[in-house]
Amino acid sequence: MDTAQQLSAACPVCESTDTRQAHVRSAFWHNDRLVVIEDVPALVCNTCGEQFYDDATVYMIDRMRQNGFPPDDAVRELRVPVFSCSKVASSGKTASSEMSSEMSM
Ligand SMILES: [Zn+2]
Repeated sequence: MDTAQQLSAACPVCESTDTRQAHVRSAFWHNDRLVVIEDVPALVCNTCGEQFYDDATVYMIDRMRQNGFPPDDAVRELRVPVFSCSKVASSGKTASSEMSSEMSM
C-alpha cells in the first residue's frame, strides 16, 4: 500500500519532506587547507532552513576529498581574512612609534 515516494530526502533536523533543491557553497577543512566547493547541489528544508545533501552529493564530495582536492582542479582561489580569538584577548595596544627615516640616494 506504500506509494513509492521519490522524495526520500527528509530533513534530518525536523524530518519534514518539504524540501527544495538549491545550489550552495560549502567550505571544508582538508588537513590544514581550507577548500571551498561551489554549486553544491543541496536540499534546503522549507520548514527549518536546514541544508543537507543527498547521497550522490555526499559521495561526490567524498571522492573530491579522497583525491585530496588537487589545486589543478580548482576553478579559482579566494583570499579569506583570518581572525584569532587569542589576538583579541590580548588586546594590549603596542605603542609602536614609526620613525620615518628619509632615504637619501
Ligand atoms: Zn527541517
